[in-house]
Amino acid sequence: MARRKRPLPFIENLEILDAGAEGKAVARYNERVVFVPFAAPGDVVDVQVYKKRRNYYEARIENIHSESDLRIKPECSHFGLCGGCKWQHLDYDAQKKFKQKQVKDSLDRIAKVPYPEVLPIIGAEKIFYYRNKLEFTFSNRRWLTDLDASKEDGGPADTNGLGFHLPGMFDKILDIEHCYLQADPSNNIRLAVKQYAIDNGLTFFNARTQEGLLRNIIIRNAVTGDLMVIVVFKYSDKKNIDGLMQFLSEEFPEISSLMYVVNEKLNDSITDQEPVLFKGEPYIMEEMPSPVEGGEPFKFKVGPLSFYQTNPEQAFQLYKTAYDFADFKGNELVYDLYTGTGTIASFVAKSVEKVIGVEYVEDAVADAKQNMALNGIENIEFYWGDMAKVLNDDFVSKHGKPDVLLTDPPRAGMHEKVVKQILTMAPEKIVYVSCNPATQARDVALLHEKYDIIKVQPVDMFPQTHHVENVILLHLR
Ligand code: SAH
Repeated sequence: MARRKRPLPFIENLEILDAGAEGKAVARYNERVVFVPFAAPGDVVDVQVYKKRRNYYEARIENIHSESDLRIKPECSHFGLCGGCKWQHLDYDAQKKFKQKQVKDSLDRIAKVPYPEVLPIIGAEKIFYYRNKLEFTFSNRRWLTDLDASKEDGGPADTNGLGFHLPGMFDKILDIEHCYLQADPSNNIRLAVKQYAIDNGLTFFNARTQEGLLRNIIIRNAVTGDLMVIVVFKYSDKKNIDGLMQFLSEEFPEISSLMYVVNEKLNDSITDQEPVLFKGEPYIMEEMPSPVEGGEPFKFKVGPLSFYQTNPEQAFQLYKTAYDFADFKGNELVYDLYTGTGTIASFVAKSVEKVIGVEYVEDAVADAKQNMALNGIENIEFYWGDMAKVLNDDFVSKHGKPDVLLTDPPRAGMHEKVVKQILTMAPEKIVYVSCNPATQARDVALLHEKYDIIKVQPVDMFPQTHHVENVILLHLR
């Protein structure tokens, strides 16, 4: 390995200026941006640079001279190591303020088009225990912390762990004692499974050598109280698999869907695998209130491989914002792009003439059709394929030009071809739901050719993280 000629700089008395990108706080030093994870705007710190690039540094806090007023004591003992909740040291009002600013900055710096004042972010009531899905990974080489015996002392006898990947390390796992993201019995299930595995000599996976039986555990819950647990094994070992599944079923009778997967592949993804039902139903039921007063709540069937928004209470706020922005009259033809399992399409269907949903994951479309039927909805048609290809002139002449277009693309935003097609179709209104204000701003700049921004509403789906969702209403000029 090449040796560095000069050591990377140690910077003293650095003032942290902003909350910045990807959850890393931002400072400036000699014309360079410095990204400092786990710092708070207003802190004055000494930092050690660990990565140097042409126009930025990445640095770690070595010493805090004065703490920002925005700081609070993180709840979680894993804060600072775990990549999950990078903003736990920021007071929730400050978190909301920085998310609001992220939306505004994206519009100013990337969209560069006129927009009305950004509406105050819709914050979450639950700032902990809000997620309905977590995936934990087993490893026989857990990350050793300060609390572990040192190497000189021979190191800990047992290095098995069950928790989250450390940022940037594919084979090291941070063993989790208590996670503040998912409600009970999530922590108890994880801890009980780990203890059972250790007591019974079940082997924990090693991602380098690909050895070990236990790979992952996925815990999903729903507002209905349904609870799904999926254990992922590396190979088929009937005796040990049955033993663990039996243990889970007896210890946690509240599990309504207990499943397992034997994943022999190199990677952890189970989307191409067949989950096996051990006990209960092969799905959980989610429920969401109707946007119409007095309306029946929606029911959604969520299978082991189906996507469902991970913060269900805030998903309602997000959909309700989109619904209110669209201000339906009842006779509209609506396109719902990137419809996933058709949740937004179902949410609006009863208030419009017809909805066309488009999505490229075939299984999601199958779920979407089931969900439509489950909710007694008949006026949605779902189509399947890559948006840039499906949404062509033929498609539009066959199904008609939409009056209202709803779009909820992945983080990368919309393909330029899709934006062009929207400009050609020229719906009266566009409601753009986004999980990435930067790509949304880029797309809105292109749409500005024909559209004005009427409303901007950020929604906080992920407290304790830097992520923010944003809804923009656009009107045809
Ligand atoms: N609106 C849904 C899902 C939004 S997530 C909800 O609220 O639950 C974005 C969706 O876009 C995912 O379902 C993903 O599968 C789909 N997607 C991503 N790229 C796509 C593409 N190129 N064409 C069509 N769908 C795509």
